[in-house]
Amino acid sequence: MFTQKNKIVFVIFSFLCLCNLVALLIAFDLNKNPGFEVIFFDVGQGDSALIKTGEGHYILIDGGPDSKIIEKLSSEIPFWQKEIDLVLLTHPHSDHVNGLIDVIDKYDVKNIVWTGVLDTTASYKTWLDLIEESNVIIAQAGQRVRGDSFHMDILYPFASLEGESFKELNDTSIISRLVSSDKSFVFTGDASRIQEELVVDMFELDADVLSVGHHGSKTSTSKELLEEVKPDYAVISCGKGNKYGHPHSQTLELLENYGIKVLRTDIDGDIKFK
Ligand SMILES: [Zn+2]
Repeated sequence: MFTQKNKIVFVIFSFLCLCNLVALLIAFDLNKNPGFEVIFFDVGQGDSALIKTGEGHYILIDGGPDSKIIEKLSSEIPFWQKEIDLVLLTHPHSDHVNGLIDVIDKYDVKNIVWTGVLDTTASYKTWLDLIEESNVIIAQAGQRVRGDSFHMDILYPFASLEGESFKELNDTSIISRLVSSDKSFVFTGDASRIQEELVVDMFELDADVLSVGHHGSKTSTSKELLEEVKPDYAVISCGKGNKYGHPHSQTLELLENYGIKVLRTDIDGDIKFK
């Protein structure tokens, strides 16, 4: 049954703003994949999560701080598969963007979603050069990536940040919610509590799994967010013995108080939800 050809439509559209109804429409003919998986990779001090959809699509959220992501992807993506359907960069800090530079170099990345914010680092400039080959979509709340087995909504930023400079890039992080037939996930990048609370006020956010913001720093993970998402699991992506002291004891205590099971890449390695 897994060799059966399955034509699906992959669409990014705005469910809030009808004038933006169809930003992108791509049809794929792909072999059907047996299941839906989300893998949070242990990439050291950084973030990277791969979504394998039921239709056989690959979506990568951030790429971690270095080329370690290539080894991780090779263990999850068959060697003959050279395409990644969508790469989402939450924000262009090195611990999220650097690995994506290697990914774009090795794989044919069809679509890229990011904020378009300005930065001055060498990695950022390389990123800008490389993404020219892909279809680039500037993230904005209301956009939806959809397949037969899932949808993923962009919840933050509320408006395009393209071409804007920010003192604190963490606060420009894309926040998104992925819903599959039986599991849902909230990804927060390195967004701070202020952004979390803005999103809580605007959207329904309940999810089984919360990807904890900013590697478990105390600047993220507000009570308001936890009470809205009500996750069973919290995933913290951070490097063993990292110099920032992530995750912060205050965050761990808060998660414990809410009875949320914590999984950490520095302790548990790659974390896979099927
Ligand atoms: Zn980070």
